[in-house]
Formats: sequence, structure tokens, C-alpha cells
Amino acid sequence: MKQKKLLYAGKAKTVYRTDTKGKLIVEFRDDITAFDGGKKDVLKNKGSYNAEVSAFFFGYLAENGVKTHFVKMLDPRHMVVHELSMIPLEVIVRNIAAGSIVRNYPFKEGSKLNPPVIVIDYKDDSRHDPMLNDDLIVALGLCTPAELKKIKKIALEVNRLLVKLLAAQGITLVDFKIEFGRKGKTICLGDEISMDSMRLWDKKTGESLDKDVYRFNKGDVMATYNTVAARIVHAKKRP
Ligand code: 5GP
Repeated sequence: MKQKKLLYAGKAKTVYRTDTKGKLIVEFRDDITAFDGGKKDVLKNKGSYNAEVSAFFFGYLAENGVKTHFVKMLDPRHMVVHELSMIPLEVIVRNIAAGSIVRNYPFKEGSKLNPPVIVIDYKDDSRHDPMLNDDLIVALGLCTPAELKKIKKIALEVNRLLVKLLAAQGITLVDFKIEFGRKGKTICLGDEISMDSMRLWDKKTGESLDKDVYRFNKGDVMATYNTVAARIVHAKKRP
């Protein structure tokens, strides 16, 4: 498969057309950003760690009946995906209160959210990804009520599967963000699922194993990503 013209360059990934209709190549770059791009760095090999973890999660989810855009890896940082018409929503599932909901609402950091809480933000950096509600999502024409119901159902199923997988590796899935798109009329999981888009806490020590290490200068980001990728991907125990 040949890489063709650039379609889209985001903060950490670049998407290219290919010589195959309906297939795109996503390049996971080494750029890392936080706080709406206010903090930026390039960390060698970060892209390949995120690509590896994303590919592993997409494979695991597909084995368990979740439709995703993932096709295959071309090399450690280039992923072939089905082209989706992306829906500009950031669907966040929270099992434990942390991050913005602790800043914005009277939740105590670390408190359990049972049942999990779904928060949906509008993916628009220029507006700082404002939180939406169901009525706004439909009024903005972002998706139909039936699609929204499906998106929430898939998000909770992804959460159930990832919680189980990560718990077996001694990792607590605090929260994560996923994005969806349409392939024809089918809603599929797109984008990535990696240390950049999740909060992971070590079950024993409580230490952060994700982008919070970068956001809040908690330690060596690449050493963390390296260890977490190995812990997740090369895990012997699969639930
Ligand atoms: P929070 O709303 O607490 O900042 O984020 C909740 C979860 O969603 C965290 O795991 C965070 O990494 C992820 N998340 C929220 N917004 C974004 C975003 O714009 N990009 C990425 N990669 N992850 C996000």
C-alpha cells in the first residue's frame, strides 16, 4: 500500500490518503501536547508506543465484537485504517473522579463513579472543547438520537472490556476519551486509544501511568510510556 496526499494533520497524528479506496494511513508522530496545545514537546518514540498500544486495544476490542477503524500496522508508527466520516465528539468515560470533573464539580479526586459517568465534549480546540448535552448534540446536527444512544452503548462496552483487560495487569482505568465516525451507516470507533487519551493508575502504588506524567511533570514520560506499553501489550495474562 502506498501513502498518498496528506489529508489532515492534528496535534499528534497525521492522516494520509492511500492508493486503496476507503483506506487511510495514520502516522503517530512524536509530538506531545497538553492544555489546548499550551505545552508542547517532541519525545523520541512516543508515537510508536501510542500506535502499539492503540493497535493492541483495537485488536482486543474487535475480538470482542466492537467495530473499529483498525486494519493493520505498516510499521511501528503507521496504522492502516478504514476511512470514516468522523463525528466531532470527544466521548469520555469516567470510572474514578479525576481531571476536569474534579476541577469543575464537587467530586473528590479518586472517588469511584459507579455507574461510570459519560461526558461528551465538542471537539473544537478554538472553543476549548466545551461540554455538550444530548439536546445540544442533536440540535447541532452532530448525530441523531439513535446514533447517540449507540455511541453511549459502545462507549460503556469499551469501558467494560478495557477495565477488565487493564485490571489483569494491575492497572486501574480511571477515564479515557474515544472518538467515533461513520462507515456508511455503521458507527465505528476511530482515532486512537493510548496513554495520551486515558488516565491509568497503578493499582498498588496509585502512580500515574499516562499523559498526566507529562501534563504535571510527574516524572520521566518516556520511561513511563515504555513500561506501560510493555505491561499492556506484552501481557501474558489476558482476561
Ligand atoms: P479531562 O476532561 O479530565 O481533561 O480528560 C478526561 C480523559 O479524557 C483523560 O483521560 C484525557 O486524557 C482524555 N481527554 C480529554 N480531552 C482530550 C483531548 O482533547 N485529547 C486527548 N488525547 N485526550 C483527551
